[in-house]
Amino acid sequence: MADETVPVEVKHTQLFIGGRFVSSISGRTFPTYDPRSGDIITYISEGDQEDVDSAVKVAREAFDKGPWPRMTGYERGRLLFKLADLLEQHSDEIVALEALDNGKPVVIAQMVHVLTIKYLRSQAGWADKIAGQTLKVDGPFHAFTLLEPIGVVGQILPWNFPTYMFITKLSCALTCGNTVVVKPAEQTPLSTLFCAHLVAEAGIPAGVVNVVPGYGPTAGAAIGRHMEIDKLVFTGSTEVGRLLMEASAKSNLKPLTLELGGKSPLIIFDDADVDEAVAVADGGIFFNMGQVCTAGSRVYVQEGVYDEFLEKAVKRAQQKVIGDPFKAGVNHGPQVDQAQFDNILHYIALGKEQGANLVTGGKRSGVKGMFVEPTIFADVKDDMSIARDEIFGPVMSVMKFKTLEEVLERANGTIYGLAAGVMTKNIDLANRVTRALKAGTVWVNTYNVLDPAVPFGGYKMSGFGRENGLRGLQEYMQTKSVITRLVLPSW
Ligand code: NAD
Repeated sequence: MADETVPVEVKHTQLFIGGRFVSSISGRTFPTYDPRSGDIITYISEGDQEDVDSAVKVAREAFDKGPWPRMTGYERGRLLFKLADLLEQHSDEIVALEALDNGKPVVIAQMVHVLTIKYLRSQAGWADKIAGQTLKVDGPFHAFTLLEPIGVVGQILPWNFPTYMFITKLSCALTCGNTVVVKPAEQTPLSTLFCAHLVAEAGIPAGVVNVVPGYGPTAGAAIGRHMEIDKLVFTGSTEVGRLLMEASAKSNLKPLTLELGGKSPLIIFDDADVDEAVAVADGGIFFNMGQVCTAGSRVYVQEGVYDEFLEKAVKRAQQKVIGDPFKAGVNHGPQVDQAQFDNILHYIALGKEQGANLVTGGKRSGVKGMFVEPTIFADVKDDMSIARDEIFGPVMSVMKFKTLEEVLERANGTIYGLAAGVMTKNIDLANRVTRALKAGTVWVNTYNVLDPAVPFGGYKMSGFGRENGLRGLQEYMQTKSVITRLVLPSW
């Protein structure tokens, strides 16, 4: 399957605090694994409570006394643009580290890296444009709002798009003048640590960005309950989102932005172009080996096109080129780690046990590494585990439906509400469906299209708050109202 050569040198394995790479206070390290083989790539300094404390102290100082929140928006923007240029110059290295640590095919990592840089530049462009409002009030008063950064922001990241998660969250926090303490996912610290050194090279002052790799229940939890962290931004599972809300309630009531799990429906009506629908559904679930929070994992197909859709979807899934992420032509790599691999196979077994019809895939690919075949189950019922739980793997559940009312009820019948899709040529139908679906993003005749200008976030237990664009920046600012009594000559 893969010859496991390591096509990139790993240069940064320590915590990044106060603009320098340092060992963890305990001296402990943890391994990061190559998903092609399960072998250890290298050991990373393991941050814990004391390291988080030290990072927060530095970030606090940088916020309370340092130049970052005090410099002009224009100057902050200029430094962030410089960081974007450096991310571009080092694309090959970052993409390789990401493919190595996460297992995503280089072609996907490259595509996402281009989008990541676009996000950073798009947000940095707001740095000198975000401003409050002048308000009309009764009486002899002048009222206006100031938009101020919140302070020290804690950011806890998932492993599915490591660089993208780090840089997009960083771009919002820094554009507004905050400082950050970031914990990358333990599975994928390499690209984040590499990018941290570029933050220093870009001239962003020491202490503004601090990275503490480590495990969730230790380093992550320390961020969650920290009294000196003013805001917490988290992308990951609904389960951990709930723990972080509890930690906030029990500590300093820090506000949260939570981007959590999903079980997103894609609805294909009889009038859709079936070939297009197959392509959209395929990308919707199999992109990044299904490790996408918006993955279109529940595909509802109207009865008139059900058989044709299924036949073509199976054919397409079987054409995936599974293999080493570094090999040209490969578009389906390994899952990120053993735990995810095991979990996906567990759900595939449950699907079979509960009576779903396995029409393609369903097993590991090759003899080693975390490779799982693109898998499709047909005739899935809404109460089966594969239709209810987030699998976070390449498993498409296909369900048949008859009427609009029926499919809307079924599509909305989930605890999640991150995203949804609809395929139809009928504009009135599309409009009706987009308004009826309880999801933060609805795609029509496409799927997984993301843009820095478009707000992103969940309904229901998929979280709250929004990322991207001006709406995303609002999560990182607080509003101060100022009312001044006017002493005016009477006229
Ligand atoms: P996870 O929630 O287990 O881990 C995410 C991060 O939280 C990691 O950095 C982890 O170390 C940390 N963490 C774990 N336990 C913690 C604790 N007790 N306290 C503080 N931090 C803790 O999720 P994951 O396995 O990394 O990612 C998969 C999940 O993330 C899926 O459910 C997926 O839907 C979700 N996700 C959501 C989005 C989104 O934008 N909504 C994006 C990507 C992934």
